[in-house]
Amino acid sequence: MKRTVQPGFKGNKASLPSKPCAVCGRPMSWRRAWAKNWEQVRYCCEACRRQAKAQRGAPPEGGA
Ligand SMILES: [Zn+2]
Repeated sequence: MKRTVQPGFKGNKASLPSKPCAVCGRPMSWRRAWAKNWEQVRYCCEACRRQAKAQRGAPPEGGA
């Protein structure tokens, strides 16, 4: 009994939201770690986050 591997595999991952990174513009796919703050996530990685802050010269995140 063989399984036929189809290149066009249809998984539920296709339904996951995604949006471009605010810095590099690369599409970043939804991560479970971002489930709680997906709307606040703007950068694909720590490097982009730091870069964005460096450009704006904004203080580190914190405060209410
Ligand atoms: Zn990025």
